[in-house]
This record gives sequence, C-alpha cells and structure tokens, in this order.
Amino acid sequence: PLNDVDETKANRKESKVNPEAQYEKERGDCKDQLYMVVIGHVDAGKSTLMGRLLCDLGQVNKKIMHKYEQESKKLGKQSFMYAWVLDETGEERNRGITMDVGRYQFETKTKNVTLLDAPGHKDFIPNMISGAGQADVGLLVVDATRGEFETGFDLGGQTREHALLVRSLGVSQLAVAINKLDTVSWSKQRFDEIVQKLKTFLKQAGFKENDVTFVPCSGLTGQNLVKAPTENELLEWYKGHCLLEVIDKFRAPIRPVVKPFRFSINDVFKGTGSGFCVAGRVETGVLNVGDKILVYPNKDQTVVKSLAIEESSRVVVFAGDQAIVTLSGIEMQNVSIGNILCDPLNPVQVSNKFEARIVIFNVTVPITKGYSVVLHHQSLVEPAVISKLTSQLNKSTGEVQKKHPRFLGKNSSAIVEITVSKPIALEVYCECKELGRITLRVAGVTIAAGLITRIIN
Ligand code: GDP
Repeated sequence: PLNDVDETKANRKESKVNPEAQYEKERGDCKDQLYMVVIGHVDAGKSTLMGRLLCDLGQVNKKIMHKYEQESKKLGKQSFMYAWVLDETGEERNRGITMDVGRYQFETKTKNVTLLDAPGHKDFIPNMISGAGQADVGLLVVDATRGEFETGFDLGGQTREHALLVRSLGVSQLAVAINKLDTVSWSKQRFDEIVQKLKTFLKQAGFKENDVTFVPCSGLTGQNLVKAPTENELLEWYKGHCLLEVIDKFRAPIRPVVKPFRFSINDVFKGTGSGFCVAGRVETGVLNVGDKILVYPNKDQTVVKSLAIEESSRVVVFAGDQAIVTLSGIEMQNVSIGNILCDPLNPVQVSNKFEARIVIFNVTVPITKGYSVVLHHQSLVEPAVISKLTSQLNKSTGEVQKKHPRFLGKNSSAIVEITVSKPIALEVYCECKELGRITLRVAGVTIAAGLITRIIN
C-alpha cells in the first residue's frame, strides 16, 4: 500500500504541472463522452424511440426483447415493448448510483453517449431538470401526426417549455427528431411545415441555426434511426443523415481538465471498507488518489482514499467523469448531498446572495420582491427568496426591456437577486458553467431556471 501512495504522489506532481497531458495519457484513446438529455411533449414517442434505438444498437438482451414482444402482442399493444425495454435496461444500468434520471449507454462512431431520461411521463419537468443540468446536448422529440405536433407546440404543450429550459441550463446543440412520420406517409410537406415552425421558435429561444439538426424518423418502425432510410417515400426527398449520425456529429464538449478541481456530491453512503463514499460528477479539473481536498461550504479538510468509475477502481478521475470517491479524515455526518469538493488552493466561492439571469415558466401569481422559492443547485435543495427584481429582459434579444419591474409574469426573462437561507458553494456561470446553473421551484413545480451572473458577498 505504501508503494501505491508513493506512485500516486509522483502522478500527482505530474498532474499539477500538466493535467491535459495526464488526461491524454490515460484517456487519449477513448471515445468522447457525450451526455444527451431527451425532451419533448408527453406521448411524442420518446420512450419508444429510445427503446428502439437501444435495441437496434444491440444494447438490449435478445431474450428480454423476445419476452416483451410476446407480452405486448398478447395485450394487442406491440409498440409498448420498446418503452418496456427502456425501463428494464434503465434499472439494470442504474445499479450502484442513486439518480432520479434514467441513464442508458450507447456508442456512435466517435462518441460514448449517455442518454438521460426522466422516468414518469406526466411529471417530466422536475426530473428533467436534473437531466438537463448534466447534459451537453439535447434530443427533442416531436410528434408529426396531424394535430399532435400542434398540441405539443401551440396549445400549452411541453415542447416549448422543455426547449427553453434546456437552453437556459446551457445546452446549445440540439437534434430534433420529427417523429411518427409514418403516420403522415412520410410527407415532405408536413416535415417542412414543422421544421419551419420549430426553426423560428428555437432561434428565439437562443439556439444557433447551425447547432440544430432536424431528422425525419419513426421510433416505432425504426426508420432513419441507426441506418439510412429504406422507405421509398422518405428516400425520395431526404438525403440527410440518420439520427445516430446526427448524434455522432455533435461537437464533443471540452473537458475542463485544466480548471481548478470541483466535484458536486449527489449521494453519500457507507462503503464496504473503512471510511465512506460520495458519488457525483467531476465538474472541472482532475482528482488523484491521495489528494487533500476541501468540502464546501463548510471548508472541512479530507483526503481521497480511493476512486472508482462504474465499480472499477481508478487512480485518477477527470472533469466529466461520474465517479465514486472514498474519503478519509472526516466524519460522514459532516458531508451532505449538494456539497462541493474542491481544490484547497483554488476553492469555490461561498455566499448566500447572488444575481441570476432567469427564464420564468408557468407561475400562477406573478413574481414580486420577497417571493419564496426552493433553490436547486446541482443536488442542493435550499429555501430562498427572490430579494430584488433588477430588470426584465427582452426574450429574443436578451436586452434590458425594463429596469426594476414591480413584477414578473409567466414566460418572461429577467435578472433577479436571490437570497438563500444559508451560505452555499457556487460559481458564476462564465467561470464554471457546471456550478453556475440554478432552477427555482415552488411546491414541487419548476417556475424558473437560469444562470448565476454575479456573486454578492
Ligand atoms: P413518450 O410519452 O414521449 O415516451 O411516448 P411513448 O413512447 O410512450 O409513445 C406514445 C404513443 O405513441 C404510444 O402509443 C406509441 O406506440 C406511439 N408511437 C411512438 N412512436 C411512434 C411512431 O414512430 N409511429 C407511430 N405510428 N406511433 C408511435
């Protein structure tokens, strides 16, 4: 064991000098990791599409598929088998780490993709936020069936809300599956009509035109998901990529390995040996076994005893990794979900007051000064109040429309000051986007999401 520690120390020195080189050495040959959140109106066909995608990529056990096929046939609802596959696969993959979003792995030519999906169809938004908060890119699924796209888009549906939400949480690249095109005989006219409407809206929501790709497909028949189309009606007019290729072409996020180390804790549990474990994501920087780090906001010191990713042990983990860290030299009761582990030489900030740029969704009562909310920041949940309405912003341009508004209604955009019931560890979005995103909820309903723009001490 002593030897191990010495080796690690040598490693650590090297890493302080050049974390990029260390990353290149350890992971240079690996595919880029991409986290993709799936969004869209209920019944747009998200589960079916994801289930089918995973099946077609061979991610699902053949025996299980056969079983579901038989059962769903009996029920006369064969399409359900893909959604079931998703649940089963999710449970299997979720073992070990507690999360409120389903995770499924698959690969493209150049990427390792983790699909983030919120279980529970009707109550999508709250769960989706924890997914969107971790996502690099988004997959928006819309139902092309006549009348259905309109329901999801115009008539109080979730299409707009989800797209705005992921954008306000920092997701900038989007693949849009124009799904169930089998129900309109692969009509180019219908496809174009939906694309036109979405293009205008997504531009307003802050997506750049080049960062959004539209794909005609059917999750149910598997058309244009992982292979080029075979339907003649579609082949006649579609010359673009299939969904898998579109996902492959996303720009991989740059792993911020050269930034100071930050790790957000989303679970704390007793390990098998001595000490205890925390699970979460390395947001920025590099962490080595043997490193001395701080637990914020309490600033307690601790030492990294061991590291693991998906049950395999590591000597070093990097920005972007979901990891389990065994800590020593600290009591378990002094560490909680929502705490941030960080570099003692370059720690995160601590404050109970900050300014944020937010997008407000559905509020029944307009937001006024002193409005009580529940702040969600990574896995942290803390009561807070909106202590100042600084300005209302123009939604499409982001320019100040009105200074010191007296109230903020639904679907508005604003800069506000938020006061939390106690100090928390945080960063401004432009320094660390991972720790600069927030959402606000009232009585379990998400009313706003946004970015921390200034920390007030
Ligand atoms: P979710 O709520 O977005 O996850 O939607 P589901 O995957 O549960 O699908 C909703 C309904 O649409 C189910 O009855 C599916 O069988 C049906 N469906 C899903 N995808 C397609 C498709 O590509 N074509 C057709 N015709 N029906 C589909």
